[in-house]
Amino acid sequence: MRKFLIAGNWKMHNTAAEAEALLAGLVAQTQDTSDVDIAVFPPSIYLELTRRLLKSTPIQWGGQNMSWAEKGAFTGEIASAMLRDLGSTMVILGHSERRHVFGESDAQIRQKIDLALKDGLTPVICVGEKLEEREAGETEAVILGQIESALNGLSPQDLKRVILAYEPVWAIGTGKTATPEQAQEVHFTVRRWLETKFDKQTADALRILYGGSVKPANAQGLLSQPDIDGALVGGACLKADDFSAIIHAATVS
Ligand code: PEP
Repeated sequence: MRKFLIAGNWKMHNTAAEAEALLAGLVAQTQDTSDVDIAVFPPSIYLELTRRLLKSTPIQWGGQNMSWAEKGAFTGEIASAMLRDLGSTMVILGHSERRHVFGESDAQIRQKIDLALKDGLTPVICVGEKLEEREAGETEAVILGQIESALNGLSPQDLKRVILAYEPVWAIGTGKTATPEQAQEVHFTVRRWLETKFDKQTADALRILYGGSVKPANAQGLLSQPDIDGALVGGACLKADDFSAIIHAATVS
């Protein structure tokens, strides 16, 4: 039985005061949600603040990105060991903004995944097709290509710590969400691929989140699909009320 994970990616939003208010609101509104895993991904400069405010709660936190290098002369970068030092248990890797705004390649993302796993972090690996790729009928090839590059050759132990997030690029921050059926179709394809490539146990255990304009109004429809194991939420995680409503939708799905 896979446990839902509802994860909030703050991106480059929030002042420190807003971050404190958001976390306080989230803690207050999620006292009765122990059947759902919750994680927040603040800007790394707020990880210490996040650790202070969440340390006696079950809510996890992590980085939005990290370097592909272990350490060294990489101005402006953050190492996986540094995320770990600040209490992170997870890190988002391969987010569409990293792939398409900052030009990260599948190979670089794979280097990061290996490093995150080595340092004890759970990588939340994002994959997704662009609108033109969907319209050209290439969704499956794009998604499975990104996943193959991310997971090929990982050990069964490592695969137990991996989380995937299907985030169609055309649905991120646009207000257009995949329908529950469109999302389920991709999640099902990914799970069958995992079974063929690895084994049934791995495929059944690995959590696949959906991301792309998830809101309180559409969360339940998405989360009630059999292969959707949670949500990676951008815009709607910036308001404690909305993010908590999505978490509550998971408790009844
Ligand atoms: C995201 O950034 O991962 C995301 C899904 O954003 P939004 O929910 O705003 O579409």
